[in-house]
Amino acid sequence: MRKGLIALAAAAAAVLAAVLIYDGVAEKEAQQTFFAMDTVCSLTLTGRDAPAAAEEIPAQVTALETGLFSRQAAGSEAAQLNRDGGGAVSAQLAQVLSATWEISEKSGGALDCTLGGVSDLWDFTGDPHVPSQAQLQAALAHTGYRKLHLSETAVAYDDPAAVLDLGAVGKGAALDAVREALQGRRLRAGIVSLGGSILLLGRRTFTVGIKDPAGNEGDCLATMRLSDCCISTSGSYERFFEENGERYHHILDPATGLPVRNGLVSVTIVAQSGLVSDALSTACFVRGVEDGAALAAAFGCEAVFVAENGDVTVTDGLRAKLTVTNPDYRIVN
Ligand code: ADP
Ligand code: MG
Repeated sequence: MRKGLIALAAAAAAVLAAVLIYDGVAEKEAQQTFFAMDTVCSLTLTGRDAPAAAEEIPAQVTALETGLFSRQAAGSEAAQLNRDGGGAVSAQLAQVLSATWEISEKSGGALDCTLGGVSDLWDFTGDPHVPSQAQLQAALAHTGYRKLHLSETAVAYDDPAAVLDLGAVGKGAALDAVREALQGRRLRAGIVSLGGSILLLGRRTFTVGIKDPAGNEGDCLATMRLSDCCISTSGSYERFFEENGERYHHILDPATGLPVRNGLVSVTIVAQSGLVSDALSTACFVRGVEDGAALAAAFGCEAVFVAENGDVTVTDGLRAKLTVTNPDYRIVN
């Protein structure tokens, strides 16, 4: 293992849902650490075009954030849609919205990208606090992904007070865009990590860790040997606060507007598409182990569910690639 990469993994581990351990061989390599999409991001590329490509990716991710996905960025398409209650969109955003809509539908509404009004009440990234039932009910009256009607060029809102929030899919969608931009570049391998979503490029096999929520920064509970895929983790320990001795985290049940309480601490999804891995990690967390595993299977994805009590459930296709490294956890299926 190479020293720089270990250092990178250690630096990033504080904020990543997954920790990277990279078995590199000596060759031209470029690294970047940057802040975008409200999280610490990092990348390592190897191959002839690595330095040039590594320079471009941070700006590309930031452009997607401020131009398309972030409803907090006043000039983004998402912000514009929310201001106008619908309107024209780029082909790129239309595609992301339609893929998200399909996952919302197939997950029985567990993924809902119109939860913006509810997330605003919780204000996880600002001054978090528990909203009143009356506030939640009022905000829930304006949620529901079926209120959005999509075409390839526009989005119509049934309810102009609905608030599009792409927090659950933006990082994954950005990974897909990064991969597309890197096509044709002379690269051997690479890792691009945007918070809890990671893209692995090339034929090289990487070791990716699932963070131990009870451990210190950088501690893993399990590792997976993976190549050429996207991996996303949604964890209840990623963003949370405590009020009156109760813990509240940022993965919300669209039916109630409350943080999901089903005994899970994290769900990790391995998929070909970043958007699918990101969206499903949230949706499968909401659905819980049984329904979540069926949902992952419906999209041809693998999944790891980690419960508060240390039980780990892993889908069949991933089992041989996963090693539980912390004795407090055990595979139960
Ligand atoms: P992270 O942002 O830590 O990667 P997720 O991908 O699970 O985590 O996305 C969580 C974010 O998505 C929340 O901060 C919120 O903005 C939004 N969100 C929370 N619950 C849902 C849900 N059930 N459906 C869609 N979006 C959600
Ligand atoms: Mg997600």
